[in-house]
This record gives sequence, C-alpha cells and structure tokens, in this order.
Amino acid sequence: MEFKKNDLVEVEIEDIGQDGEGIGKADGYTLFVKDAVIGDRVLARITKMKKNYGYARTEKVLTPSSFRVEPKCRFHRQCGGCQIQAMSYERQLAFKQDKVRNNLIRIGGFPAEQIDAVMEPIVGMEEPWHYRNKAQYPVGCDRNGRIVTGFYAGRTHDIVANTDCALGAPENRLILETVLSYMEENNVTAYDEKTGKGLVRHILIRTGFASGEIMVCLVINGKKLPAEEKLVEKLRRAAEKEKRSSYMRLDAGHEIIEKRIVSISVSINTERTNVIMGKEIRTLWGQDAIEDTLRILERGRGAEKTEFVPTDDAVTFRISPLSFYQVNLRQTEKLYSLALEYAGLTGKETVWDLYCGIGTISLFMAKKAKQVYGVEVVTQAIEDAKENARLNGITNAEFYVGKAEEVLPEFYEKETELQDDNGKSDADSRGKLHPDVIVVDPPRKGCDEKCLDTMLKMQPKRIVYVSCDPATLARDLKVLCDGGYELVRGRCVDQFGQSVHVETVVLLQRKDM
Ligand code: SAH
Repeated sequence: MEFKKNDLVEVEIEDIGQDGEGIGKADGYTLFVKDAVIGDRVLARITKMKKNYGYARTEKVLTPSSFRVEPKCRFHRQCGGCQIQAMSYERQLAFKQDKVRNNLIRIGGFPAEQIDAVMEPIVGMEEPWHYRNKAQYPVGCDRNGRIVTGFYAGRTHDIVANTDCALGAPENRLILETVLSYMEENNVTAYDEKTGKGLVRHILIRTGFASGEIMVCLVINGKKLPAEEKLVEKLRRAAEKEKRSSYMRLDAGHEIIEKRIVSISVSINTERTNVIMGKEIRTLWGQDAIEDTLRILERGRGAEKTEFVPTDDAVTFRISPLSFYQVNLRQTEKLYSLALEYAGLTGKETVWDLYCGIGTISLFMAKKAKQVYGVEVVTQAIEDAKENARLNGITNAEFYVGKAEEVLPEFYEKETELQDDNGKSDADSRGKLHPDVIVVDPPRKGCDEKCLDTMLKMQPKRIVYVSCDPATLARDLKVLCDGGYELVRGRCVDQFGQSVHVETVVLLQRKDM
C-alpha cells in the first residue's frame, strides 16, 4: 500500500532515531514518528513521504510504552528543547550510550566486542532537572500586546510565554517576572523582530551553582533603559524577599549557601540579527562578572568505584556575560575529572589542550602536569583563559589564539626545522613538539583533518578526546587509530538530561609503546 501525506496509520515503535524520534514500520515502510517513545503503539499522521520511508507525528498514544513518563513541562512538544522528556531518565541514558556505541561501530569501524570491553557505563545526573546554569529568554509581545518572555516555539520565532522552564535554574522565574513587571510599570517596550523596533530583546540569567552568584543581563536595542535604577531596586528587593525560600538555597557540598544577585547589566545590541548578545556590556549594579568553581573529583574506592568524590583541588572561573562556560556544572566536573584521569598525569608531562575555550580543561590539566599549551580560535576566550590562570595562581599554562588546524601544523613545521638546523634541542621544546598528552574538545563538526594529521606526527603517548558529537568522534577516532593509536577506554557523561545530546570522553594510547 502507498501512503500519502495526512494519512493516519498505526505504528509499533521499535527504535529511537538520532533526534529522539520514534522509529517503526507500517506496511513495510519505515516511519520516523515525532513524539513517540520506543515501545509505544501510536496512531500517527504522516507529514511527509519519501520513496522508502516517511515522517509522521503522533496523534494519539494507543498503548503507552513502559518507558513513557509524564512530562514535567506542558510545553515540551512545542518547545523542542527537550526532545525526550516523555522517556524515563534511565531509558534516556541507555539511548545515549547506545547512540555512541552504534556510531563507534558503524562509522568508526570498531568491533562491537572492543567497544563493550573499553566503554565504562554512562554517567547520569543525580537530578536531571533545573541543571542549566545559563538561560537566554527572548522577550516580545503576544497577540494581545501583552509583554511576554519564554521560548521560541520549535523552528519559529514565535514566543511562547513560559517563565518556568524545567531545565533552567528555579529562581529564573522570579527574575523573569520581576523584569516583566518593571517593564510594564515603566512602559518599557519589547523588541519586535519584524519591525526592528522596541527595546528589550532578551534576558540572560547565569547562576554560579557552586558560588550562588547570579547575573542578570538585559539585551537591549538601544543604549539605555528607562529608569534603570528601578530595575535594579526591584530585582534586589525581590531576591531579598525570597532569600529564605528553598529554591534560593544551594547545597554546596559541605554547606548550604544563599543564592544572591550580584551583577545586573545591559548588553547593547542594535543590529537586526539572530545573534543574541551585543558586544558592549554596561554594568548597572554590582560586579561585572560572577565566579564559579569546578571541583576536581576522584573515583570513590571499593564498592563505590563508579561514584565520584571531591578532592581538595578546584579551579575557579570568572564568567562575564559574554564568556562561554559549560551549562551543567556538576556533570562538567565529572567529565573533566575523567579527562584528567585518562590523561594519566604525574607532574612531569607536557600537554596540549586543543579547542580550549576559556581554559577549563587546560587549568584542570595544569594542576597535575608540568606544562600545558592551550589553543582556541576565539580571542576573548583566550583572554578569559589567561585571566582564569592568574586567578588560580597557575603559571604553567600558555595559550594561543588561532585555529587548531593552523596553529599546530605551523608550530610543528617551524619547530622541526629549527631542531634540524641546531642538531639538538632542549627538553622543553622537545616536550612541546612531542608532548605526552594531547587533549581535544572540538565543536560538533569534530577535528579538521590537518589537525589530526599533525597530532599523529607529534606522536603523543596518549590522546584524550572529549566530544559532543558521536558521529564526528567516531570518524576522527578511525583516522587516529589507523595512524597508530588504540582505543583503550571511554565513557559517556550526560550533560543534557531530557535532550538527545551526549558528551563522550575517550582515551587513545600509542600502539608501539
Ligand atoms: N574545552 C572548552 C571549550 C570546548 S567548546 C570548555 O570546556 O570550556 C569548543 C571550542 O572550540 C569553542 O571554544 C570554540 O570557540 C573552539 N573552536 C571552534 N573551532 C575551532 C578551531 N578550528 N580551532 C580552535 N578552536 C576552535
């Protein structure tokens, strides 16, 4: 039977697609079904038909899967930020682990037995809700002209009013509602993307989950807000009034601390673009940045082998409205502590950290290595990295601005020439040219071929690859393993509960050692 658009079909969901959609068959045709959970039997409406497969949307769940749970957020279908909120958290973790496994087998060409032998079980979150330490809420008007803030409905720029995102920090609601009432009371307009008129575009909120420091930054289409002092006063008063509420308290391990607003600013963005933040930031009240701390963790011993326990060591970061910072503090601590463990440092090693951002991994490594070199393409991030090194009294980390696939090969060519000319070289430059460890943490597109090629020439003993995309991870691991390395360990860490994204860290070792 041929299906066509708008047909209603019954589908047994047997698998999960890359984007969290359900996959099932109807009359031999494979259908990718939105909002269906593996194990469901659903009635689905076909939205698009190709020759051998099609797309559909769940119209009704006929028999719910045992993995189906009641979603926390009533907007989860509209929003699209939490693709798998209707799936139990346990099943989400299994899905992510499988996704990485399948990519490594299919794209990486690794034998299944090897993957099963080297991969440790995925590290889940203790509480997969309200974990994001950063959120940017668009501001606009609804159909009745009322000022609203919330999220863009999936793939559109229509704002759905919701101040209570289930992934954002719980105090965001108070802050958002306070900003909205300030706007109403002072006749402050919301920005309209279609006309380019109106003032307030976005509200950025960042919380230091270790420090309790909160930053509020309004992105505005102009130089100034009317009655700026009123916004400051209102926000401070609201936070003060709520300070005894449980959601304003933070369990910082050994003590309970109060969250407090320490920084209120505006970001000036008068361009008609989709870029959220403007480059110019003016602090209205308090500090220019917040601080937050990542602890270095160790594995618990004995029975708690897979649990993480904090050491006395930690790295503190200064985060300004424009800085990049990982969104999930507790899981980032685990991910980077694993990267550090895999690097196997004893204090004598030279380490390169490629795609280093604000130096998060570099500074972790610098605590245990002799010398670290970081490379990152964004100039401001390198400024932050240097500042963060100073803040922590770290003197054995050096940073370079540029593309990894340019900085590394250029350094390699130049240095090899130099060493050939001189006939000999000192231990430091030899260490830099042939480091003990290279760490990479590239964006989704993975590493450039030229970068991988130079890494192979530099012949580090170990390569630690931190990845946010299993497909490009698998592709790059194939190149590195064909070039003389062996995959010896790996682990997924869930940084983004309710979404389909997953982070992976793996350790490669040089074969001829
Ligand atoms: N490890 C860092 C950042 C990882 S995100 C942290 O945890 O904070 C990936 C980083 O790679 C981003 O900071 C991005 O700006 C940078 N980047 C993207 N392409 C790059 C390239 N070709 N060369 C170097 N850095 C790049």
